[in-house]
Amino acid sequence: MQYQNRLDFAQQLDEQDTLKAFRNKFLIPQYNGRDAIYLCGNSLGLQPVAAKDYLSDQLTNWQKLGVEGWFEGNDPWLSYHKKLTPILSAIVGAHEKEVSVMNSLTVNLHLLMVSFYKPTTKRYKILIEGGAFPSDQYALDSQVRFHGFDPKDAIIEIFPRSGEYTLRTEDILDAIKNNADELALVLFSGINYYTGQFFDIEAITKAAHDVGVIAGFDLAHAAGNVPLKLHDWGVDFACWCSYKYMNSGPGGISGIFVHEKHFNEDHNRFAGWWGYRKDKQFLMAPGFEAEPGAEGWQVSTPPIMLMALHKASLDIFEEAGGVSVLRAKSEVLTGYLEFLINEINLKKGKELFKIITPKEPGKRGGQLSVVCAGDAKGIFNYLTQNGVIGDWREPNVIRLSPVPLYSSFTDVFYAGQLLVGSVENI
Ligand SMILES: *Cc1c(COP(=O)(O)O)cnc(C)c1O
Repeated sequence: MQYQNRLDFAQQLDEQDTLKAFRNKFLIPQYNGRDAIYLCGNSLGLQPVAAKDYLSDQLTNWQKLGVEGWFEGNDPWLSYHKKLTPILSAIVGAHEKEVSVMNSLTVNLHLLMVSFYKPTTKRYKILIEGGAFPSDQYALDSQVRFHGFDPKDAIIEIFPRSGEYTLRTEDILDAIKNNADELALVLFSGINYYTGQFFDIEAITKAAHDVGVIAGFDLAHAAGNVPLKLHDWGVDFACWCSYKYMNSGPGGISGIFVHEKHFNEDHNRFAGWWGYRKDKQFLMAPGFEAEPGAEGWQVSTPPIMLMALHKASLDIFEEAGGVSVLRAKSEVLTGYLEFLINEINLKKGKELFKIITPKEPGKRGGQLSVVCAGDAKGIFNYLTQNGVIGDWREPNVIRLSPVPLYSSFTDVFYAGQLLVGSVENI
């Protein structure tokens, strides 16, 4: 598309936007009596207007039914998750049986590693992208120690080539090949939180499998943001959170994926009664027998209120036509932001804002990570003081993420104007 740095151009794109009505389904934070420019859906998605009703319905069920709510009412809690998994499995490209809604993200990463990180004295290493989200680093570190290995030796981080910000797929695949004899697991994010790079999940999975290694993914920044085909790509396991691109609210419930090829294996797990085979769960018998499928990894009684909040947003995803529809707008929206940022550099004759996120739309999601020359924190504060909500990552990166469900082209246009203002005013 031939972008233009003009308000009427942005307004025209908004008018043609077939998803424009979806913005009204979200509560936009207010700034000085108008909508803030919210570019932070990669950190915490906005609240669906309907969230209150979804929550209130379950509070009413609890009020009226008490414990009978598990079995009675419109949404018996015992099967409430079954109303989420069809939409969620479409979002991540999985069969319904391969997806389970449970716990929080880091907890799920641990639970999945208990089953899928099976180190031996020869093959015990984990390969991960350098600069992964800290919680994942801590989780891997502690898992490796738990098995008696030294993280310094057992965790292989791969970094971009010197002078580059993102990893080349060929370097990832080479690293897998070169360490094949010692690897027990390849664990990557789908999209790196810092750079916004969308990794080639299919190629990484295939390279791991070619050398007999399990491939797992943390999809915190990918789920609900980019189309995924976890089943077809043969991914062994994955987990994600729902409060970023999936708008389920702070600390919202997480989800896991386990490929069906692993259903009939005998897994190590940290088990709990909610993962017990459903037909016999309430016999309360000794000796754990897992429910077949991803639900067998559940541990505890599900938090129905969190599921209700998750469902409020999932229903909007379904109504919008799914991730592929959102993605089409997301690419144009992100492309427009990129264009406006590059225009500033062109006009000012120097690279004031360096976008470190890959240029190719297929290698990124909705987020642009921008390294600021000069007073980066001052620029970020200027944006905040003028109603742009992005987020800050040390030492000098601003992450901006327009979200197709509720961000407009006009939002992006004004964000561009304020970036110009920031360099002229500080
Ligand atoms: C957001 C994020 C987390 C957060 O984990 P929680 O357990 O939900 O606090 C973990 N890993 C990655 C890659 C993330 O982006």
